Amino acid sequence: MAVTFLVLWRKRPDQAYLGMLALAFLSCGLAFAVNDLLPGFSTSASRVAANILFLTAIASACIGGLQRAGVPVPLRLFGVSIALCCPAFAWYLVVEPSTEARIYVVSVAYTILSATTTWMLLRARPQRALDWLFVVLSFALTVLAVARPAALLLKQLDANAGGSFRDSAYWATVQAVTPILAIAVGLAFLGSLAAKLFDELTVEADRDFLTGLLNRRGFQKGVQKALTACGAEDGAAVMIVDIDNFKLVNDSYGHAVGDGVIAAVAEVLNRHGGGHLTSRSGGEEFTLFYGKVSRPELLGHAEVIRKELSQAHFPGLPPDRYVTVSIGLHPRVAGETISEMMSAADRALYEAKRAGKDRAVLGAPALHALPQAAERRTGSRMRA
Ligand code: GH3
Ligand code: MG
Ligand code: MG
Repeated sequence: MAVTFLVLWRKRPDQAYLGMLALAFLSCGLAFAVNDLLPGFSTSASRVAANILFLTAIASACIGGLQRAGVPVPLRLFGVSIALCCPAFAWYLVVEPSTEARIYVVSVAYTILSATTTWMLLRARPQRALDWLFVVLSFALTVLAVARPAALLLKQLDANAGGSFRDSAYWATVQAVTPILAIAVGLAFLGSLAAKLFDELTVEADRDFLTGLLNRRGFQKGVQKALTACGAEDGAAVMIVDIDNFKLVNDSYGHAVGDGVIAAVAEVLNRHGGGHLTSRSGGEEFTLFYGKVSRPELLGHAEVIRKELSQAHFPGLPPDRYVTVSIGLHPRVAGETISEMMSAADRALYEAKRAGKDRAVLGAPALHALPQAAERRTGSRMRA
């Protein structure tokens, strides 16, 4: 487990909890090795080592759990609990040697660490089943930290069978329960990492790498959801935006500058397009979806986009080199599917290109005459 988490942490150094888990499993494994495998366990040194390792394991597992949930770690409380535990442990090891007393001392520290973790995870309002699993696990740790010393106190467990801690019922319960709990903790963290990776993959699969906008797939998914929500109700619309003479940009300034232009246009559309969903639907073509918009508002959005583009800076292009777009608009006719809407907007875009580019055209149900757009420095017009 320690090696697994270490390898994962090296691959995702931003996920600090993976490092904490590696430390937790390493310490836990070493603690058992010291207790069970070292021939001279009865020495004070090995007792100190085993208890420091167990404390480190519990503390780092708790810290990892809090980090995974994005909860600030109460380092001061954890530090003070461990710091107070150490001299008390040393007292009952050297001055008044007592196995039971040492168990009570470390159990208090375990309880503080695990109960605080449980409480803080609960306060962070767990959302998913996996978040709740971490609450349950840290609560289980708290229950164990309380129940075992309580059983010892009530003489239900012994800690020193025939003078040997190794043969005691107390140590037998630690050996029986800890590996099960540790594996459950490890699996919960691995499951949580897998869920996070799936989420990231889903987001990446729906996004365009160059612009960060939705890609065709993400756009279709979003639109389907939106259209199902609004049913046959009117008010939805699509806008297709295509960069004019883009091939010339590539040919004159290179592909990298072309990429920069696509990214800059995407930024303008994302900031000023007003779309509920904004996507890069093709090479230098973008599609915006509006859930509820009137025709004048739709035209207003198109005009804002053209105005912003006329003022935008395009890295790698000379300052007097403008980038213009042609825009096809289509307000939804009740009951239309998204592909019908896109086809209609595409026809409007074709009309805009045919009429001389650098303009917006409002499409079906019938092409409507639109007011003349404000003259821009590019001398562009908006036409029906
Ligand atoms: P129009 O005004 O009629 O739209 O002409 P256009 O030159 O913009 O359109 P055309 O379809 O002739 O050319 C589009 C070019 O876009 C061709 C292709 O090489 C380029 N392109 C497509 N995707 C990318 C990309 O990701 N990066 C860059 N730099 N160029 C791209
Ligand atoms: Mg083009
Ligand atoms: Mg095109």
